[in-house]
Amino acid sequence: MKALVYQGPGKKQWMEVPMPHLANPGDVIVRIDTTTICGTDLHILKGDVPAVEAGRILGHEGVGTVSEIGTGVKDFAVGDRVIISCIKSCGHCVNCRSGLFSHCLGEEGASGIGWVFGHLIDGTQAEYVRVPYADNSLHRLPDGVTDVQAVMLSDILPTGFEIGVLAGAVKPGDVVAVVGAGPVGLAAMMTAGLCGAATVIAIDLDPGRLEQAKSFGATDTVDSGAPDWKEQVLAHTDGAGVDVAIEAVGLPETFGMALEAIRPGGHVANVGVHGKAVELPLEELWIRNITITMGLVNANTTPMLLKLVASHKIEAERFATHFFTLDQMLEAYETFSNAATTKALKVVISRAG
Ligand code: NAD
Ligand code: ZN
Repeated sequence: MKALVYQGPGKKQWMEVPMPHLANPGDVIVRIDTTTICGTDLHILKGDVPAVEAGRILGHEGVGTVSEIGTGVKDFAVGDRVIISCIKSCGHCVNCRSGLFSHCLGEEGASGIGWVFGHLIDGTQAEYVRVPYADNSLHRLPDGVTDVQAVMLSDILPTGFEIGVLAGAVKPGDVVAVVGAGPVGLAAMMTAGLCGAATVIAIDLDPGRLEQAKSFGATDTVDSGAPDWKEQVLAHTDGAGVDVAIEAVGLPETFGMALEAIRPGGHVANVGVHGKAVELPLEELWIRNITITMGLVNANTTPMLLKLVASHKIEAERFATHFFTLDQMLEAYETFSNAATTKALKVVISRAG
């Protein structure tokens, strides 16, 4: 089969590799029908995630058809259409039992992390992928939900909702600011309404992304490069600051912006993956009763979000801006890596035919 193989920092290849095979009774093999690329894949290619070794097939998002099942798999059969969650969970370890699937201790990825695809085991940017703990890590796709919609449920929608909206404790009537209008920030904007957000302010440097944000639930937009960005944000509040600030970039300055915009008693929900230390001015913050949260997605809300996609309450297809076939994988990477010029949000990569 063909797959996108990481060859060390800066290097990748679409190449012939051996077919995956069932290794444990709980495994299934999924034929990939649709996959996509995440900003995290670009981080890996830069060499920012040293745990990824050369030779690893990348990708942690995908939709496909079950082609083989292990003897221990109870809930899936050959031919089922499934969403592959970016988080595998064994369902039995102490972390899974407490609902912290992102830290599943199941032996696949012994480092105690639920994100293993395209990280610690081979991923979804391939014609086939082995899925461990399939009963807990796959979601059956109902008729009427397209692959394009479903692939947004592997990672970006649960991430924006769980680590942004739910961790930020958005409640009815809230003013929510989202710093970073990439796919994850847009997913937070799109789902903030589920918890009753009254005002959703998109903050980004890229005017194209701000324009796109308006069709993802943003009621207002602010250019973070403007010298008066903070005044512009506060103008949408009662003056005290936003109720919830969601950081969806992963830079010290954008985390700082979230702290600056927050009201006393507010919630700062950090979603961004950070590569360097941020400043946390506790000497100013301690008195402001602020809650700061962070985390890796658990993907436990995927079944709920899937229902909302199926009933057209969440228009997941909006994220898809460019379409490719699997053998155009390198072209898809090119388009996704140059989002500022191509205006790509999510590139959809599907099996030909
Ligand atoms: P992305 O790179 O597509 O989007 C980031 C956005 O931030 C872009 O629109 C960019 O223009 C904007 N930006 C950059 N600098 C800015 C600044 N100074 N002010 C305002 N905006 C600025 O990324 P994405 O795919 O949307 O992901 C967002 C973050 O979420 C990344 O750090 C990603 O690694 C992280 N992530 C976290 C989890 C998790 O479980 N916590 C899961 C998936 C992704
Ligand atoms: Zn587990």
